[in-house]
Amino acid sequence: MSDFDIIVIGAGPAGSAAAAWAAKHGARVALVDKATFPRNKLCGGLFTERSRRYYREIFGQDFDLTQAVTRHDIAFWHEGSELAVIRDIPPLHLTMRLDLDDTLFRHALDAGAVDFSGRSIAQLSENSMSFKNGETLTTDILIGADGVNSIVAKHLFGAAFDTETVGFGLEIELSEVTQNPGKNQLRIDFGAASWGYGWSFPKQHSTTIGVGGLRAPNPNMKTHMRHYLEALGLDPDAVKFKGHHLPFGDFRKTPGRANIVLAGDAAGLVDPITGEGIAFAMKSGQIAAQSALDALAAGAPETTLTRHKMGLRDMHKNLRIACTLRRIIFAPRWQKTFTETFRRSKTVRVMYMRLLAGELEYPQLARAVLARLPRYVVNAFRR
Ligand SMILES: Cc1cc2nc3c(=O)[nH]c(=O)nc-3n(C[C@H](O)[C@H](O)[C@H](O)COP(=O)(O)OP(=O)(O)OC[C@H]3O[C@@H](n4cnc5c(N)ncnc54)[C@H](O)[C@@H]3O)c2cc1C
Repeated sequence: MSDFDIIVIGAGPAGSAAAAWAAKHGARVALVDKATFPRNKLCGGLFTERSRRYYREIFGQDFDLTQAVTRHDIAFWHEGSELAVIRDIPPLHLTMRLDLDDTLFRHALDAGAVDFSGRSIAQLSENSMSFKNGETLTTDILIGADGVNSIVAKHLFGAAFDTETVGFGLEIELSEVTQNPGKNQLRIDFGAASWGYGWSFPKQHSTTIGVGGLRAPNPNMKTHMRHYLEALGLDPDAVKFKGHHLPFGDFRKTPGRANIVLAGDAAGLVDPITGEGIAFAMKSGQIAAQSALDALAAGAPETTLTRHKMGLRDMHKNLRIACTLRRIIFAPRWQKTFTETFRRSKTVRVMYMRLLAGELEYPQLARAVLARLPRYVVNAFRR
């Protein structure tokens, strides 16, 4: 008999959700992470109502909002001018990943997952893994939830992501809220980077400012970040930015092999328009865990991938539509038309917000945007 039914590698939102769900349903689960918690993760920390809904479903309780900032208004900017301030939007919660991920990790341990955090992995195989200290664990099923640089994805496919299609973000955490001349506005700036955007997210004790987008068309992301900081009235030389990749719409159609499956960033599950990844990480972790539980119940761990793929069908469909829609939102030749449509059409703005807040999915947004664009754009887009 194996030491564990399931080993989950990575204890971020995807891994903690997977471990909590599987342990809660009776599986013997090991939760492995190279970091010791609490640990930070470069991220805007925007926690949507979609995240909140998945959190409730997976962890069986309401998300504690006392450490978050909740906003009901957002400003959209484009090249230095304000496109729109939208008020009375569905709530957006701004969290710190240090706290959020620690909470998720503790939930997984409380559910019964065994803690193997703070240990580096030396080797992986289909049914086992060993740590650098020589300790080896055996398992029936492996869930790779180890982020965008996933060693599980590398083990399966030779590389964690495609450098041509991956995204990249730079961020700073500004400790003095008063330094932000945006007066603490929750703000998104289209055009701050090619095929991406800039953001300024107010937190309880700081402001997270960043730019991000596809990496290939932005070899000069640092320059974009400097310009964005200057546009916000900040001195780029006075701050130090940090960077991190994100799989910006580059999801894996086959997220695993037989008894090894991937979840979250390791499976490429980040929204290619909004950059939202926390919700999809938690949900795909739960789906991976349920697929593993079903495969174990059927006595067929090798069927985990087939089940996982079925479970991810709706998420993949949404991401595919989002990737198509991204061409008119971000492509430099259409961006002016899109921002004009965005400025003019309250329906598109409200739908975009409902999408961001997790109340709406992409098929409805796509229909609304297409109906309001000039015909020549729609035709070009369909070709
Ligand atoms: C700049 C930026 C801003 C973003 N802003 C937002 C936002 O505002 N809202 C939002 O929803 N999403 C945002 N995202 C996306 C979001 O951060 C990710 O989608 C999310 O963190 C994915 O969760 P995960 O659990 O899959 O991976 P991660 O959160 O990356 O967790 C992976 C875990 O695996 C561990 N690990 C990695 N390698 C190994 C290894 N070799 N061995 C053991 N453990 C390992 C890590 O220590 C980590 O704990 C942003 C991303 C970036 C880069």
